[in-house]
Amino acid sequence: MSKPAARSRIRADIDLSGDGRRVGNLLVTHSDNRRPLAPYPVPLVVLARGSGPTVLLIGGVHGDEFEGPAALMRLIQTLTLDEISGRIIFLPALNATAVEASSRVSPLDGANMNRAFPGNADGGPTAMLAHYVEEVLLPQCDAAIDLHAGGKASVFAPSALATRVDDDALYAKNMALARVFGAPVIWQLGGYNDDRSVNAAAARKGIPMIAAELGGGGGCTPQDADLAEQGVRRCLAFLGVTDDAADQPPPSRVVSISSAEQNLYAPATGIFDRRFKAGDDVAAGQSAGWLHFIGEPERASVELHFAGVGMVLAHGNRGFVERGDMLALIAGDVDENDEGGP
Ligand SMILES: [Zn+2]
Repeated sequence: MSKPAARSRIRADIDLSGDGRRVGNLLVTHSDNRRPLAPYPVPLVVLARGSGPTVLLIGGVHGDEFEGPAALMRLIQTLTLDEISGRIIFLPALNATAVEASSRVSPLDGANMNRAFPGNADGGPTAMLAHYVEEVLLPQCDAAIDLHAGGKASVFAPSALATRVDDDALYAKNMALARVFGAPVIWQLGGYNDDRSVNAAAARKGIPMIAAELGGGGGCTPQDADLAEQGVRRCLAFLGVTDDAADQPPPSRVVSISSAEQNLYAPATGIFDRRFKAGDDVAAGQSAGWLHFIGEPERASVELHFAGVGMVLAHGNRGFVERGDMLALIAGDVDENDEGGP
């Protein structure tokens, strides 16, 4: 006997099960000044045919990261039922009101959805959605992909994110998906990962899952939207949901962030005159750029240096930075078979 679905205040206005192509919404009852007596809709598409695995594809967890939602829209509009064996559940804009506002966090409650898991069935709209994904959707799934990007605030070296879970078999499945996705970088999430993310939710449910960080800057970078589309297509074929004659993924470099000590943060407020880009290899002592004090043109600019050797996984995307802002996330190469993990 199957377990009853978890209690949720969120309702899908289409059937999740049964063959067919269905387009609808998750209905999030919130009731605020803007919409007191109607739910907020979150777009939902289900493609299902015959037997096969169920894959959950998520975009728009952060509303200023558009490459993933764009890639999922391309797939929704081009995948046909007759090429599917199993089920694909699309949530191309999970944080729908944030996507419409080009905002990282929800304009409804100010919450960051990727810090909201496991969520709360009786919480605010972000917590309710997180709870629905973790307790209602993920238990129905055989795999999940959650597409992110750097958003307005940062730019990432395009990466697939695989969680280094304690369960070696699940870890191997996460890494296999990440390899098939075919981004230039695989970011192995270990101790540095936040346990309130979609990745952490999938790990708790034992579901193979990757996230992706696809460039960023707050727009929709063409090569990264292409990478997302191709990566998801390869994963769907690898999982057996489509019969695409998938091309071979290009090789990926596996890195992790084991501590925040190598990262670079702004020591003062000013213009950051950056001398590196995402994906660069850097060495200890290497110049990272200068901080200029624009209101004091005679004051000597401060040269910043990298603390250690590594690869720039992401950099801040703001010219004017405030003290404490992230300027560079530095990752190190890992041996993916290292049992210790990061
Ligand atoms: Zn994100």
